[in-house]
Amino acid sequence: MYWERVSEEIFLFTSDRYALVNSVAILTERGTVVVDALPFPDEARQIARFLEIRSGTDFFSLILTHHHMDHVYGLYAFPEYLDVIGSELCRQRLLEVGASSLAEARESDPTFEEVSLRVPTITFESGEFYVNAGNKTFRLFSLPGHTPDNIGVYIEEDEVLIAGDAVMAIPIVADGDWQSEIESLEFIKALKPDTVVQGHGEVILRGEVNTVLDQYIHYLECVRQQAASVLQQGRDRKEIWDIPLEKCGLERVPLGIASHQLHVANILSVYDRLQAERDAS
Ligand SMILES: [Zn+2]
Repeated sequence: MYWERVSEEIFLFTSDRYALVNSVAILTERGTVVVDALPFPDEARQIARFLEIRSGTDFFSLILTHHHMDHVYGLYAFPEYLDVIGSELCRQRLLEVGASSLAEARESDPTFEEVSLRVPTITFESGEFYVNAGNKTFRLFSLPGHTPDNIGVYIEEDEVLIAGDAVMAIPIVADGDWQSEIESLEFIKALKPDTVVQGHGEVILRGEVNTVLDQYIHYLECVRQQAASVLQQGRDRKEIWDIPLEKCGLERVPLGIASHQLHVANILSVYDRLQAERDAS
């Protein structure tokens, strides 16, 4: 795990063991707010201890961007009395799949024994939800696409957007929805944040935000084109494996799971959707 400062009061923690997943801590007048946690217990405990010492204050609340386990597990390392804020969909998904996912994780890696699952205790269904932490205002809103429950956390005073997996080094829509992911990226462009913290990968800084978001939108459009052309030409679905990531304008990133595999899963999911639509018409 390594850490860096996004600003005087915003700390970023990145796992070097799982897909460069990010956790963010914001020091406020009312205590530290933590958005997402890293998956591994030792990393999560290290972050909690670091923040206790560094901030010299208590924690204020936890915010969860979506239900994927690489963002959820580490929340257990923070004080139990803290609320977890998230979308109602996130809470529902975790109640459905959380316990079985954790049981599986424990089976393959006993260090997960000490993890206890935290699910959102304060939720919102739609629109915007504000968390007022004195000198920092957090605006939460839906950013679906990667998953339906994903939210963005916008720190108004700093114009920093913590995007969850709506923004990541390789957009992943294989378990989500291609169209809403593009809409979320367009929404973020219109918001004009100064800085974007991605769910996985490096922070996108002022001046790069538009370029990077355009690159991701272009990537997703290319994914759709590739899927459509395989379908239209009646080529074998397996040929999708031969379409390189670079063809859609992105470079391979060390996300742990092979970039190529994620890319292929994206095209396959759009292909299956297009085929189902064609067969239904
Ligand atoms: Zn995710």
